[in-house]
Amino acid sequence: MAKRTRIKDIFSAETEKRYTVMGWVRTFRNNQFIALNDGSCLSNLQAVVDFENWDTNLLKRITTGAALRIEGNLITSQGKGQTVELVADKIEILGDCDPEIYPLQPKKHSLEFLREIAHLRFRTNTFSAIFRVRHALAFAIHKFFNDRNFVYIHSPIVTGSDAEGAGEMFQVTTLDLNQIPRNEDGNINFKKDFFGKATNLTVSGQLEAELGALALCDVYTFGPTFRAENSNTSRHLAEFWMIEPEVAFNDLNDNMDLAEDMLKYLISYVLEYCAEDIAFLEQRLSEEEKVKPQADRSEMALRDKLKFCIENDFERLTYTEAIDILKNSTPNKKGKFQYPIEKWGADLQSEHERYLVEKHFKKPVILTNYPKEIKAFYMRMDDDDKTVRAMDVLFPGIGEIIGGSQREERYDKLVKRMEEMHIPTEEMSWFLDTRRYGTVPHAGFGLGFERLVLFVTGMTNIRDVIPFPRFPGNAEF
Ligand code: ATP
Ligand code: MN
Repeated sequence: MAKRTRIKDIFSAETEKRYTVMGWVRTFRNNQFIALNDGSCLSNLQAVVDFENWDTNLLKRITTGAALRIEGNLITSQGKGQTVELVADKIEILGDCDPEIYPLQPKKHSLEFLREIAHLRFRTNTFSAIFRVRHALAFAIHKFFNDRNFVYIHSPIVTGSDAEGAGEMFQVTTLDLNQIPRNEDGNINFKKDFFGKATNLTVSGQLEAELGALALCDVYTFGPTFRAENSNTSRHLAEFWMIEPEVAFNDLNDNMDLAEDMLKYLISYVLEYCAEDIAFLEQRLSEEEKVKPQADRSEMALRDKLKFCIENDFERLTYTEAIDILKNSTPNKKGKFQYPIEKWGADLQSEHERYLVEKHFKKPVILTNYPKEIKAFYMRMDDDDKTVRAMDVLFPGIGEIIGGSQREERYDKLVKRMEEMHIPTEEMSWFLDTRRYGTVPHAGFGLGFERLVLFVTGMTNIRDVIPFPRFPGNAEF
């Protein structure tokens, strides 16, 4: 096929020259103006056909969704809405699209409807913008860490340990479910399974990242994670991507600094490199906001919200301080919280996190030193023996975007905590080895990639920021 020029590049290309473009028809107006999109940018290229000289059979096939190859001369546009246009003198239909049955008509479709046709939604302005931003964020994550000499560790997706403790797991097996081999005591004989033991899909790459950090110092993982929790919420997926840096010799403060620097870097990156898409998503969001009741409307436009996160220091406070604020808050006193805050030790729900961020501090918040009872076994115990060196980063509209901690590096304390929490220490001896052989303080966190994309794009449902969402009852495409 002839060389094609990407539509993105056409807008800055020299005029009065010939170009070939390829893409899909968004609209065809008056048998004359084709709006062509190839996904390289949000904007369509206008291709003009002087219809009198054209075969009407060909023109009939230029329908919304059809794939075309167009050759022509690029000129400065006379019309409004575009700087250049391509005067087509050769059009080839690469793929027809029957307008009678094509589900994506050139009109506004609901996000719910588009979710049902997720195989086609890439072709809308909203989803092409979201997935370009998602890509930019993924790239920026690698750049952020690479610039800081972090090593990218590929942690396993199939895991033999069920002690990661972050959520319900999906089992991986090749056993015939109709004929499960059993031991004499009636339990499943996993020795007969593919790996010779029970295996699951990973819920986190952290434990493996820790092994890497205790030799390479600065490492991160960035991969898919799976949780079989039945959370049918707008912030949970059964399959999502997580970024997990882990750094030797870092304490909780260093960990908070890294998280804050990283989030600010990523948001700045997108503002700089995805300006057109973000402007479009901002416009989309403000139209959505207009139909909401006054009280639920966001006070800030998308770009203002993003800039606000870059320009302000995140508020850092302890869980204990947060509980005091929440206990005395108006919604708590007026019984407005679904889960009222009564006493210290309560796990915070998204409504509490969002109150702190959106109403009380009005900026991102990092909560630290949570009660040990509501956090994982590997977090470093504080001197009071009640709280651990955990940190959650809370964002407006999202709630928890990052969860992390300084890790318990002291062998005896870690074993004690594992025993208290009924985590089999023999099975985890590989993990405990790091604390036996040259243990050092270290810290890390997990950033939910889709929650970040959700925040940056101003979307409200996590199912709209991953190409093919998996959630309870749904594994389509
Ligand atoms: P939550 O309380 O919101 O369920 P969590 O405490 O289970 O989160 P962690 O185990 O700390 O979360 O995971 C680290 C990060 O991964 C979270 O801060 C969040 O950004 C993201 N995350 C966790 N569970 C999911 C999920 N089911 N879908 C998408 N992202 C998730
Ligand atoms: Mn969870």
